[in-house]
Amino acid sequence: MREADFEVLLRLVEQLGGEQRAALGRALASAPGEPEAVRLLEEAFAAAPRCPHCAEAAPPQRWGRASGLRRYRCKACRKTFNALTGTSLARLRKKACWLRYGEALAAGMSLAKAAAHCGVHLTTSFRWRHRFLRAPAATREALGGVVEADETFFRRSHKGSRRWRHGDAPPGPGPHRRGERASKRGLSALQVPALIARDRAGHTADAVLPDLGAEAIGAALGPVVAGDAVLCSDGAKAYAAFAAKHGIRHEPINIAAGVRVRDGAFHIQNVNAYHGRLKGWMGRFNGVATRYLPHYLGWRRTLERAPEPSAAKTWLLAAARPISTGNAN
Ligand SMILES: [Zn+2]
Repeated sequence: MREADFEVLLRLVEQLGGEQRAALGRALASAPGEPEAVRLLEEAFAAAPRCPHCAEAAPPQRWGRASGLRRYRCKACRKTFNALTGTSLARLRKKACWLRYGEALAAGMSLAKAAAHCGVHLTTSFRWRHRFLRAPAATREALGGVVEADETFFRRSHKGSRRWRHGDAPPGPGPHRRGERASKRGLSALQVPALIARDRAGHTADAVLPDLGAEAIGAALGPVVAGDAVLCSDGAKAYAAFAAKHGIRHEPINIAAGVRVRDGAFHIQNVNAYHGRLKGWMGRFNGVATRYLPHYLGWRRTLERAPEPSAAKTWLLAAARPISTGNAN
């Protein structure tokens, strides 16, 4: 509220009758006030404001309030926006529960547990999970130095958006067992490959692949692997093709012949250990719908990479990142 309006309000209070005073007291006591989540989100936005319409970074004009959020107007394109415009949290309701949902993501809670934790319906818990995870899934880290890349496989699940009512699990057997490789480069229709690439500083990139061909591998690695990196992979030709095309040094490891480490430095053991942690953690969901697999990869990556993965605000602020600018960071 504007300072001048507030002064008017204070003067009006002096004119209240006894019953009106009591009623005003009750209204104040039950008013929810500004949720902590909103304070955190607006603070983060104000620290580095950017117009979601034209990307202007000059501080915008303040433009009143709407829907419990500060409004701004861009000095360049003159459109109005708030801290959540263009993010996947825009127009999501019950802001007072968002930090609790951040706690649920930090703890890796099931949909039902998260719903109970936040006092929201199961449908809300489902919708929020994927709204909160959209931006983390789209965020890309740049990889440099020695980069290990390898695929891991998940069981394909056509679990539709309506099947969540039966819990997190699709029908049928559980996810692909760890250590069980897809039959060479042939891909069973039951399997979905996910590529994980990780450098020795821990920067991590992940992508769900349409297939195991050079084009798919290149589309996943091209935007994130530095030109002077050294790529370690198994002997699959797709990696050699990608490296040759981009002029990147390639160190294939002949896993099939029992080679694990070459020259003391070239191996894919870090990325394979990451696969193991990812699979172990994913076990709690009893298989996930393939269409949402990128969200789970981003969820796990954020758990591993965020400076404070157990803090609720980590998940709130990650969820409110603009999706269109999810480039290397
Ligand atoms: Zn603008």
